[in-house]
Amino acid sequence: MEYVKGKPYFCYCDGKIKQYRYLDKDIKCEILIIGGGIDGAIANYYLSKDFNVVLVDKGRLGMSCTACATALLEYQLDDFAEDLLKHMTEGEIVLAYKMGIDAKGKINNFIKTQGNYCNFALRPTFLYTNSFFSIKSIKKEYEFRIKNGFNCKIFDSNNSPFTFPLKCGIYAENGGGEFNPYLFTKQMIENSKNQNSIFENTNIVQLIKNDHGYIAVANFGEKIYCEKVIIATGFNWEVLGIDDLCERFITYSIVTSPLKDFTWFNKALIHDVESPYHYLRTLPDGRIIYGGEDTIFKEKPINENVSNKKYDKLEKDLFRLFPEIEGETKIEYKFCGCFGSTPNNLGLIGESKIDDDILLFISCGANGIINAMAGVDVIKDILLRKNNPLIPLFSP
Ligand SMILES: Cc1cc2nc3c(=O)[nH]c(=O)nc-3n(C[C@H](O)[C@H](O)[C@H](O)COP(=O)(O)OP(=O)(O)OC[C@H]3O[C@@H](n4cnc5c(N)ncnc54)[C@H](O)[C@@H]3O)c2cc1C
Repeated sequence: MEYVKGKPYFCYCDGKIKQYRYLDKDIKCEILIIGGGIDGAIANYYLSKDFNVVLVDKGRLGMSCTACATALLEYQLDDFAEDLLKHMTEGEIVLAYKMGIDAKGKINNFIKTQGNYCNFALRPTFLYTNSFFSIKSIKKEYEFRIKNGFNCKIFDSNNSPFTFPLKCGIYAENGGGEFNPYLFTKQMIENSKNQNSIFENTNIVQLIKNDHGYIAVANFGEKIYCEKVIIATGFNWEVLGIDDLCERFITYSIVTSPLKDFTWFNKALIHDVESPYHYLRTLPDGRIIYGGEDTIFKEKPINENVSNKKYDKLEKDLFRLFPEIEGETKIEYKFCGCFGSTPNNLGLIGESKIDDDILLFISCGANGIINAMAGVDVIKDILLRKNNPLIPLFSP
């Protein structure tokens, strides 16, 4: 638990991922996925349809950064299109936004076929500022989206349906979705085809190259012989002996007690664009989850004093936004975790620089989950040697 701290709300809800056994003998497979958080679970669900896949996690499935994710599922990225132009062409940015919309559709399809056991709901998104300095950027972003066919509208202090103060913001009716990330991981894992090839409490401590691919050695000496290794270890890269794949941050969250009859316009997923930024959404049991205040990740375990200061700051901010709930609710969950960031806000998904047989599946940014849903097709197409225009965007 070096990459998370506190009491993550999502894994205290009803329903635990069933317990899988640990590896106690040598085995063989085509693809070994190391890491059973939401990324490993997504990769395992889709890839086990076509390949012989083994999934291992050193602890319990879904209990690391996955359990902390606020799970705002949005097509917009962390940065504005005007800033992303430093790292992508305009066409690539449009492709990345469309990818986000398609990935949300893919989650919707999964839920339609497997049932909704993770509180999935489609939601609008609202990206706003209350600062004069950001009005121009918000308006430019709005124009970029309209020019490229993304349906959205702009609200300002004269026509805003939200009660909190704002200068202007972009509202996208079909911009997002939400779910419980831990329960979604449970659904992905428990509905995957390879139930006998999933192992918990199996820490991969060494990767040895051989003529057929790799031998992955687990902590008690058992070996997994595989052709390809997929690294889905989140923001812990110890198995590769590397510590600098991308920038890492800590983001902090608080969750209120359930509120009666309190919500806001269409239960939109809300972000501000301040520095540091904040994000919030409603939860199905009437709570609010509010997060942000990111800091650079530089020490393990995460510093408790810093976290406590951040939770206090978030609490004050939340009651400043919604003074009507102060005294009506208290903060019941506080937690934080690590996430990675890349210049183009996507992920490190594809063949690694270390070796072609080691693929990275590390979803980054505030949109990590959406990136993983899209990224699994990238991995599949790489394995099948097919072209996919997203391969260069995700390339590690
Ligand atoms: C507070 C917070 C809020 C967030 N909000 C959002 C959001 O609103 N929307 C969004 O899309 N994303 C959000 N994210 C990001 C999201 O959480 C991540 O993109 C996602 O959880 C990454 O999942 P993962 O499976 O890669 O990592 P993890 O959940 O960390 O899983 C990695 C797994 O690998 C295992 N592992 C590591 N090393 C080994 C090894 N050697 N052998 C075996 N197993 C190993 C670990 O035990 C762990 O279970 C947020 C993150 C945080 C922290």
